[in-house]
Amino acid sequence: AKSEARGAFRFFEPEMDARIQARRLLEQDLREALVAEAFELNYQPIYDLASDRICGFEALLRWNHPARGRVSPAEFIPVAEEIGLIVPLGEWVLRRACAEASRWPDGIKVAVNVSAVQFTSASLVTAVRDALRGSGLPGRRLELEITESVLVANPGATTAILHSLKGLGVRVSMDDFGTGYSSLSYLRSFPFDKIKIDQSFVRDLGAPNGTDFIVRAVIGLGDSLGMTTTAEGVETEEQLATLRAEGCDEVQGYLFSRPVPVEDVPAVIRRWNGA
Ligand code: C2E
Ligand code: CA
Ligand code: CA
Ligand code: CA
Repeated sequence: AKSEARGAFRFFEPEMDARIQARRLLEQDLREALVAEAFELNYQPIYDLASDRICGFEALLRWNHPARGRVSPAEFIPVAEEIGLIVPLGEWVLRRACAEASRWPDGIKVAVNVSAVQFTSASLVTAVRDALRGSGLPGRRLELEITESVLVANPGATTAILHSLKGLGVRVSMDDFGTGYSSLSYLRSFPFDKIKIDQSFVRDLGAPNGTDFIVRAVIGLGDSLGMTTTAEGVETEEQLATLRAEGCDEVQGYLFSRPVPVEDVPAVIRRWNGA
């Protein structure tokens, strides 16, 4: 039995090796990409239902590696978090998004995703202040999106950081709401400006045993807490109609536009808001 076990171990060894090897390569490529500025941002419009106009864009990180092709942020962000690269990478995103958004019309905001690791890092508030100063973008045109994991990891630090950001005029959204661990009481005790309803709830709107009641509850929650609600992943007219009827404030999804390169932002604004 013992030799069998050893044989089994040897059998898996090369495969393990390959996996560790692949992971090291990915880490190396990520570090090089940051130095080479091989990342770029795409922007997806956020549509305001009260005015029927685009009111902002969410910045989404893109990495196009010469050999790997397009690598999804869902794949490389967790790795960047683990190896400590997310702080410099996230600061690059902040600077780039503020610089690009500073050239957009004044009514158009930019929303930037901030990883939990970066949010509670010592340098976040300074990085935001520097990105605003460097670009000339007014704080009121910047929104930061954070996920519930921030609250669970470090509720004390989060409150202090949220208040410092408010001091800069920056708004903060709770992203992917309903998918994490946080409870309703958490939401009440943190001064968020916006709740983003996760696309998993939007997808099943109108389905048998659908999520209509959850979406309705979250919109009601937002209303009673004085927070704006944004629905993500809106792909159909039916979903849009339901969200409108339920009093959702903002929507975002392929129905309006996929994320686009920065040079296409003016055309997207023209298409929806007119000239
Ligand atoms: P997220 O913040 O929830 O971003 C929304 C994701 O949904 C984006 O995927 C977007 O392209 C996709 N999406 C938008 N509309 C639709 C739709 O109608 N249908 C469907 N099926 N999907 C839609 P993406 O760009 O691949 O980003 C994935 C995740 O990676 C983001 O989820 C966010 O958690 C993370 N991420 C992206 N950029 C950054 C960044 O700059 N910093 C950090 N920390 N995370 C980022
Ligand atoms: Ca987001
Ligand atoms: Ca989201
Ligand atoms: Ca509302």
